Amino acid sequence: MPLEPALCNAIDIHVHGYPDVGLEWKMRTDDLTLVTLARDAGMRGVVLKSHFWPTMDRAMILNERLDDPQFTVWGSITLNPLIGGLQPTTVEAAAAHGAKVVFLPTWGSRNDHGHGGVVRQQVIDELLPSFGPYLDVAAIKVVSDDGVLNPAVVDILEVAKARELVVSTAHLSPSESLVVAEAAAGIGFTRLVFAHPFSPSISASPEVIDAIAATGAMVEITAVLTMMPRPPISVADVYDTICRLGADRVVLSSDVFFKWLPPHAQMLAMFIGQLRSLGSGEAEFTSMLVDNPARLLGIRTAK
Ligand SMILES: [Zn+2]
Repeated sequence: MPLEPALCNAIDIHVHGYPDVGLEWKMRTDDLTLVTLARDAGMRGVVLKSHFWPTMDRAMILNERLDDPQFTVWGSITLNPLIGGLQPTTVEAAAAHGAKVVFLPTWGSRNDHGHGGVVRQQVIDELLPSFGPYLDVAAIKVVSDDGVLNPAVVDILEVAKARELVVSTAHLSPSESLVVAEAAAGIGFTRLVFAHPFSPSISASPEVIDAIAATGAMVEITAVLTMMPRPPISVADVYDTICRLGADRVVLSSDVFFKWLPPHAQMLAMFIGQLRSLGSGEAEFTSMLVDNPARLLGIRTAK
């Protein structure tokens, strides 16, 4: 019996492997165990994310180790200041190296830093004590105070469009994310993901979420937020959001970042079960876990 039928051909676009922040920040599993569990759950693949370093090389090695044409690990890059921030050339080079997803700044965004550093508080400050002062100088804002989008972001969207990459708004503020979404729509870029709007560093209002979804962007809802000891959002809130937006505008992902959480596939299975108990149907799960991520990544899935 499969772990969860709705995970058949599912793609998780937000998977933190080990190591991410550092060797001392332990995850539940090593990468090979993580992807093996996902593959054995019937999933089609995962996007490996790191807050620090590109993951294309790890993805390539994992694909070689798994040697399974039915399952793929895709690499990504996160445009934090440590790797040069908003550099279109970095994105071009990452794409040439096999990256499929570009995350705009996470801990390196001015928004996240201004909220006291959501990732920093949980992990980074303990391991990397210079990061607070570093980010006072280096944190990245993509929209100026008078509302003008940094032209490098448009260039990055153009590179992503030409190379068929997904771009995630990561930890940008809701207002910055909306400006990016409008710019993406303006150039006909159709692979934008509005990342975890209920994350404490983002806390987007329903109005902003709806406005971003209306540009054509996908709204990503991560399971991790509902499973925190003090969750910023309940599964019922997620269910209501899916009902409001429609499943065709939503992507579900895991975003496991703590060793006390179940492995990614198991956590998604539980999240699916909770949503199903509230009324989500199988066609909605297929949209949010299979079809929408596959469309973003530009891959075909077996039906
Ligand atoms: Zn994440």
